[in-house]
Formats: sequence, C-alpha cells, structure tokens
Amino acid sequence: MKEKESAEKTFSCRSEEELEEERKLEQRLSRIRRKIVVLSGKGGVGKSTVAVNLAVALMKSGKRVGLLDVDIHGPSIPTMLGLEQESVQGSEGEIFPVALGNLKILSMGFFLADRDDAVIWRGPMKMGVIKQFLKDVAWGDLDYLIVDSPPGTGDEPLSVIQLLGKVDGAVIVTTPQKVAAVDVRKSISFCRRLGVPVIGVIENMSGFACPHCGKVTPVLSSGGGREIARDMKVPFLGAIPMDPKIVESGDRGLAFIDAFADAPAAESMREIISRVEAADGGGGSPVEGEKTAKEDGKMRVAIPLADGRLAMHFGHCERFAIIDVDVKGKKILMREDVNAPPHEPGLLPRWLGERGAELIIAGGMGSRAQGLFAERGIRVMTGAPADTPEKVVHAWLDGTLVQGENVCDH
Ligand code: ADP
Repeated sequence: MKEKESAEKTFSCRSEEELEEERKLEQRLSRIRRKIVVLSGKGGVGKSTVAVNLAVALMKSGKRVGLLDVDIHGPSIPTMLGLEQESVQGSEGEIFPVALGNLKILSMGFFLADRDDAVIWRGPMKMGVIKQFLKDVAWGDLDYLIVDSPPGTGDEPLSVIQLLGKVDGAVIVTTPQKVAAVDVRKSISFCRRLGVPVIGVIENMSGFACPHCGKVTPVLSSGGGREIARDMKVPFLGAIPMDPKIVESGDRGLAFIDAFADAPAAESMREIISRVEAADGGGGSPVEGEKTAKEDGKMRVAIPLADGRLAMHFGHCERFAIIDVDVKGKKILMREDVNAPPHEPGLLPRWLGERGAELIIAGGMGSRAQGLFAERGIRVMTGAPADTPEKVVHAWLDGTLVQGENVCDH
C-alpha cells in the first residue's frame, strides 16, 4: 500500500513538473505570431541556405524574426551567418539567442565546444535538447520563427513539429532531379499527416547561373520540383539556380540575398520569399486564437468572381463577393457583390483595402499583386477552386479548403 502511495506520489510529482514545462513552452510559443519550418527529404539540398535567406529577408523587411537551427547533426547556420565564434548566454534558466539586428538565432553549433565535435546522442537526449531549445529560449515577441529542421521525415523532424504545437506552414526544399521526387512526396505526406499546411516546394540548384552574364543553363535537368508540386497539389514557390556565389557567401558568413543582391539567384530568392510571406500557410484555415483585425472575431473576406464562381485568374475577375464572417462561430454573416474597378496597376489593392477586405481567397494571383496586398496587411490565399463563394468560405472556415497550384503566376 505504502509502495503504491509513494509510486503515485512520484508519478504525480513528475506529471506536475511536466505540466509546468508544457505551460512554459506554450507561453513562449504564444508570443510567436507565425512559425514556419523549412524541410527537405535529405541533407545537402540547400535547406539551411533557404532558411537563412528567408530569415534575413524578413528581418530586412522590418519583421522581428527568430531563426532556430535544430539540425543538430549538421548545424551550419552559425557559419553561414559569420557567428562561429559566438556562444549563447544564459541566466535563471533562460537561454538568450544570439542577436543580429532584429534577427535572433539559436543553433546547436553555439553549444559545441569544438566545431568539429560530432553530436552522438541517443533519441531521448536529442528530444530533450530540442525541447529545451523551444522552452527555455528567450525569443520574446516574434513575427516569425523560421525553423531549420533536421532533414528527412524521421523522429527528429517529427518531434520538432510536435513540440512547436501549431505550425503555420512548411517550405519544402528539393533539387530538380527526378530521384529527389520520392523524398518530396514523403515530406508532403509527412506534413499532411501532421496537419501542417504546405506553403510550397522550392526547387534549388535548378540550372547554373553564369557568373559573367547571369544566363541560366540547365545542368542537372530541371522541373522535378514543379512537377511534384503539381502532382501533389501544393504550390510551387519557384526555382533557385546554382550559383557559386551562394557557396562563397555561405562560407564567408554572409546572407547571399544581402551580399549579392543583384545576382539572378538572389532575384529568384526574393520572389520566392515574397510568395512565402504572402501565403497564408497552405491550408490556411483561420487560426484559433489568431488576432483577427476586429476584436469581435469578425473578418471581411473578398473573393474575385467570374460567372458567379471564384475566378481562377485574379486579373480577369468581373466582380467581387465581399463576405463578412464570424471566424469563431464559423458562420457567414453577410455577402455583397460589387463590380470590380478597372484593372489598373496597383488599383485593386487600394480599392479592396478601402472596402475593409482583410483576406482574399483567390485561384491564381501574380507575385507582384500578392506583394502589394501584403504591404497593405491584406492576407492572400491562392490555389482555391472555382466554386461558389459560400462553398469556398465555408471550406476555409472549416479548415478543409484544398489549395492547388497558383494557376496564374504573372
Ligand atoms: P542543407 O541544409 O539541405 O544540408 P545547405 O543549405 O547547407 O543544405 O547547402 C549545402 C551546400 O550547398 C552549401 O555549401 C551551400 O552553400 C550550397 N548551396 C545551396 N544552394 C546552392 C545553390 N543554389 N547554388 C550553389 N550552391 C548552393
């Protein structure tokens, strides 16, 4: 009997501790507005390169950004950002990330006494470290946390995603060869099983950008990433050519997008990043607890129409359905249809902004238009089907809206 009591006591003590840990983790994570994981089927495809450049570009656009390198076996982010000599400081159970302007960085690399040390840990220890990275790190308030995940679809990326709680979206990086397709499929179904919206697929090392004239020549074949995205009905975010300056900047500890802003590969990265920023996170149903523009949980959604259904090409729409929704109650409150204004450059974002639109659900929309809406704080979801506005909005409210490819990318 005594033994049982003491076992129960031990058990209840541990679970109290665990509960406290969970509360701490939740508290920290609740101060992060959007969490994006960067995944790849295998190592060496440019996952960390994408994570670094995405984080730096977001920071440069005025966002508060955290970059978490959970690739514990190959932490390359300190080298890529010239932070090899840095180590993290801690006090009273908190770890302070290394700051680079408005960018806060944490990497396993900061904890290794010798950069050549190999991390030889068994599963539970790795999970413990990953948990600590999330729970004890004083990230503060962040607009974005970019997580450079361990490659593959095994236990480590799984734990990362589970510990992060709600992940707003995943960016999947691949190379163009057909053999990489199997890995991308796995990564996409991994996200689907875990309920993580796929923001899209990036095809890296897609052709070779000539260092003299900038012309891109196909080398490894190309189009694998685009094909797989189409096949699996997820957005294709774009292709980044091979460019020796990407290696050079990584080795010199500089973000490529910053150091070689005029290179064609930097232009491709900027386009991809503006799509990531504009995306609502793939399946992007309204996020529980997400701050909607109005405190009462109401939101105004605009849907471009052609023949009474969602227009597949934003630029060709004739009318807009303006729909007020109660996000919490998952209800449509009001619908009003209005004629679209003339399609002059830059006019639609202003016109829809003046009408109070907070979210646009569209079929296809070019990246420039998406950028203009993002500047006005209007969220855009693309790849929605040509259904009636009610059907589209209900699917979005229920979190069942299936997003295909952005059919109009110009
Ligand atoms: P991963 O995180 O998938 O292991 P990395 O981002 O560390 O891959 O990239 C592996 C190597 O390939 C690095 O040396 C990086 O500089 C280089 N690299 C990545 N993308 C490109 C590219 N488009 N062109 C040339 N080199 C690249």
